[in-house]
Amino acid sequence: MRRLYVDEFHPVAQLRLGNHTPVAPCFPVIDMHGHMGPMLLGEDYGERYDTARQAELLRACGLEKLVSLELVWGESYRRLQNKLAEADGFFQIFPSIDVSGIGSPGFEKHVYHTLLSYRNSEVRGIKLWKNLTLSCRAPDGSVLRLDSKWLAPVFAYAGELGLPIVIHVGDPPPFFQPNGPDNEYYQCLTQHPEWSFYRPGIPGFAEHLEMQEKMLANHPDTVFVIAHVGSYSEDLQTVSRWLQTYPNMHVDIAARIDQLGRQPYTARDFLIRHQDRILFGSDYTPDIADPGGFYAIHTRFLETTDEYFDHPFAGFLGGWKIYGVGLAEGVLRKIYRDNAKQLFNL
Ligand SMILES: [Zn+2]
Repeated sequence: MRRLYVDEFHPVAQLRLGNHTPVAPCFPVIDMHGHMGPMLLGEDYGERYDTARQAELLRACGLEKLVSLELVWGESYRRLQNKLAEADGFFQIFPSIDVSGIGSPGFEKHVYHTLLSYRNSEVRGIKLWKNLTLSCRAPDGSVLRLDSKWLAPVFAYAGELGLPIVIHVGDPPPFFQPNGPDNEYYQCLTQHPEWSFYRPGIPGFAEHLEMQEKMLANHPDTVFVIAHVGSYSEDLQTVSRWLQTYPNMHVDIAARIDQLGRQPYTARDFLIRHQDRILFGSDYTPDIADPGGFYAIHTRFLETTDEYFDHPFAGFLGGWKIYGVGLAEGVLRKIYRDNAKQLFNL
């Protein structure tokens, strides 16, 4: 018999287990991590979906609101506002700030005025992305470190003006490792070599964690939501230590139920211990063909103790199965909705 290539192996589990997914989440959900604009969909996002139809689909999944995290400001922000306005406030935008003038004499003023105008309008938080450390550069051409003086005004003014920052730092550890037989995202990185950051001139994974921690320590009065389980869903003990050390830190679970669901006992303890600091996010985009199925897996993961089922990112992240963590209603209510409502004053 010929040997199979790894991408030809699709075993079908013969386990016979029930599916106990509830028909709807047990509380209305605020998904505070989605993308409805140009960041992931491209500049033609306006033609890619019907806003009212999207809101209707998402409401049917049990969502009360979806926050669209976007690298928009100025005209691009107004354009997205117009696009999403058709859904009567169902979508909330967390815009970003233009840092291309970093280090120039007017930069601090620009930061202050942009954030002030956000604070004085309906903006409830701002979005910063991984491009800061992965592709932006400091004025001297070096890596734009999160703990550098260059970015300090953004964090300081956001804190002063009471605008929480949702920030995506780095990427999963395997994206910073060579892609070979021992890389657990081998197939993913083979399909998407552009997702690898294993190359000179880009800080490694450990350096990202170090920058992130210093950023939290340097700005204790700024509220941070560090996306994707604090950038390190593979090591919940470390994330737990950060949450204990930095009261200004919060995390979302966006696009990481693949990781949480393969360590269900550890994840359950983590979610319960830090139930006041964890927010529901999914990384939803309108490209997701079956929003009902997508959110149902999140509900199944959070609410049931079902075993060995597919996660929604299996097609491009790890191909393993996950297990539910069966959280109690009091914890679910906070994670699904109350923490976001309170933190962002939604
Ligand atoms: Zn995202």
